[in-house]
Amino acid sequence: DDPLDPHAHTDDHVVDGALRPPTLAEFRGQPRVAEQLGLVLAAAQHRGAVPDHVLLSGPPGLGKTTLAMIIANEVGAPLRISSGPAIQHAGDLAAILSGLAEGEVFFLDEIHRMSRPAEEMLYLAMEDFRVDVIVGKGPGATEIPLEIPRFTLVGATTRAGLLPGPLRDRFGFTGQLDYYDAADLVGIVRRSAALLGVDVDGTSAEVIASRSRGTPRIANRLLRRVRDYALVKASGRVTPSVAAAALELYEVDELGLDRLDRAVLEAVCVRFGGGPVGLSTLAMSVGEETETVEEVAEPYLIRQGFLMRTPRGRVATPRAWRHLGLSIPPGRAD
Ligand code: ADP
Repeated sequence: DDPLDPHAHTDDHVVDGALRPPTLAEFRGQPRVAEQLGLVLAAAQHRGAVPDHVLLSGPPGLGKTTLAMIIANEVGAPLRISSGPAIQHAGDLAAILSGLAEGEVFFLDEIHRMSRPAEEMLYLAMEDFRVDVIVGKGPGATEIPLEIPRFTLVGATTRAGLLPGPLRDRFGFTGQLDYYDAADLVGIVRRSAALLGVDVDGTSAEVIASRSRGTPRIANRLLRRVRDYALVKASGRVTPSVAAAALELYEVDELGLDRLDRAVLEAVCVRFGGGPVGLSTLAMSVGEETETVEEVAEPYLIRQGFLMRTPRGRVATPRAWRHLGLSIPPGRAD
């Protein structure tokens, strides 16, 4: 199992739940989104109304699910969880929506991967709290409008741009989650360490945080690997050098790049001479799904200035060669 894959579902996943901050006050980082969301919730409470629908976008592991749980917790409503790929037919969605309790929070992960008919049903449900259920078959089939309870939809997507405009427009609030800065990640690592009962000093927390690619899920996962390593090799004591040695063992470098990241960089720089190379060709050459390369590896590589997205494909920057310890080919130096 890849310790850095934010999609990986190991037994660690069970622990993940225990590490989720239960309230907005305990949610670290994303100050703007947290404040805006807090206002949406407080205003709804004032009006005695169900909060507006919320769209959360951003790379995996940044806290979208956590925020959905916080929303339900803050308004004291139950939470229902589903995902776009799980909703293949409009009927699946109708069944969920008509089964919601009044005021329930409905978290729909990967909302951009919902089927078209389900999406259209969702428009009406979000706006009028109604679904049209088709009864019967053939020419005798009729649409029967069905009222559903008022609910708050929390949609999550890796990129808001993947959503059709009409769907995006039906959200009252869109929160764009971005990679966490080092100080917030240090805070998250220390909080998680306390919850896991591990002693982690500030400097060791910094070592872990700086290699977590701005992502709390990865920070928590690396923390658990460091804990394991310390337990077996250092009688449980986490020091900065123990943390660094543990992360080295798991092939996480000083910038947080893992095996996949480096494979992608190497493919672009060496196999494709720096690019441009198309995404699917690139994914194939590192033996990964296109989606994993696009959503997990690439955003961080772009953000770190290693890779550029151009209309003709992905292009490496001089920094990429430098990081791999290779000399920059002539004509590629800036
Ligand atoms: P997403 O839904 O965006 O993929 P999650 O909400 O599942 O991400 O978050 C992944 C993990 O990271 C959670 O288990 C949680 O413990 C941790 N986490 C995310 N955001 C925060 C935060 N702001 N503070 C503390 N922990 C966080």
